[in-house]
Amino acid sequence: MENFSTPREILAKLVSFPTVSCDTNLPLVEWVETYLDSYGIRSQRIMSPCGTKAHLYAQTGPDDDGGVILSGHTDVVPVDGQAWTTDPWTLTERDGKLYGRGSCDMKGFDALALFAMARASALPIKRPLQLALSFDEEVGCVAVVDLVETMLGALPRAREVIVGEPTMMKVVTGHKGGLGYHVHVRGHEVHSSLLPYGVSAIMQAAKLIDWANQRNVENAAQAPSELAAPFVPPFTTLHVGEIEGGTAHNITAKDCRFFIEFRFVPGESPEDWASLFEAKAAELSAEMQKIHPDTGFDLKRGFALPALAPETDGPAETLARRLTGDNGQHVVSYGTEGSQFQVRGYSTVICGPGDIAQAHQPDEFLALEQLAAGEAFVDRLLDSLCA
Ligand SMILES: [Zn+2]
Repeated sequence: MENFSTPREILAKLVSFPTVSCDTNLPLVEWVETYLDSYGIRSQRIMSPCGTKAHLYAQTGPDDDGGVILSGHTDVVPVDGQAWTTDPWTLTERDGKLYGRGSCDMKGFDALALFAMARASALPIKRPLQLALSFDEEVGCVAVVDLVETMLGALPRAREVIVGEPTMMKVVTGHKGGLGYHVHVRGHEVHSSLLPYGVSAIMQAAKLIDWANQRNVENAAQAPSELAAPFVPPFTTLHVGEIEGGTAHNITAKDCRFFIEFRFVPGESPEDWASLFEAKAAELSAEMQKIHPDTGFDLKRGFALPALAPETDGPAETLARRLTGDNGQHVVSYGTEGSQFQVRGYSTVICGPGDIAQAHQPDEFLALEQLAAGEAFVDRLLDSLCA
């Protein structure tokens, strides 16, 4: 294998694989396996059900509990329709910035994690370093569950998880969770002059959407919990951003479809909101079916991601603060795979190079200065693993 001795060289290689979420990441995974193998590090794949993608995990150092996991995703968002001034799949330096799809979100951190694994393999580290690389993060952070659960069963239990989403190397300790539903309301068509004998899917949808409005008012009126207080806004919100339905102004609508999302604060779970929402939909369906039996609400789960709860003075936060010197309080408004580790018992923080404002943009870049900050972070992490 060629020499990949710096994070930048590794990053250039990772960017060259067009690992858009809907496409294969296997060539990247294969390259990572070869890279790790050249340092004597064995890694394992976990194949996706369709067989076109894989997670990868690995460990170096003693086979003991109490290690550190560096976690990243290998997938990136598409470049279709975006006006790039460089080739998105070729890492290109310009004015102190490294341009390329995924340079910031989050192959920059992936490169640092691989670099850290390689260096750790030659050092007398006293705690293991583990690597977790996933697929399908950009399409819901769900696939990673398989990776987390497999690592729990196959490797000694790590003490801290660092998920390297772009935070400008700040220590981010919390994010809201998310839950989404595709809703299909089935009505019964009659001429609108005969309204009581029909079921308007639109007017029934309005009832469920107004239930969401009422929850928003209620949530906003409550004093925020300690876990919710750092967020803007410091409460759970429900939102409908798309709706369609109906055929004519004088026909009760046969169909109405909308998507509803819940962004809930730590301390609340997807299941809490799912059961409230599903109960309300069932209540409305029962009312509709009194008028016509073939009506009601069909719900299909779109996504469900737990919130990441700040663990004040938890092991991951303590370690990340020591490595970065950042003692600020930071929470973010985007979801990450971190919460999937945390709900399975791992102490977890988010900390990685780059600015989230760059993520998913045309001409996405990672500042060289951020990559250097990441490298300094790796140095201190390795020192700490040797201590
Ligand atoms: Zn990301």
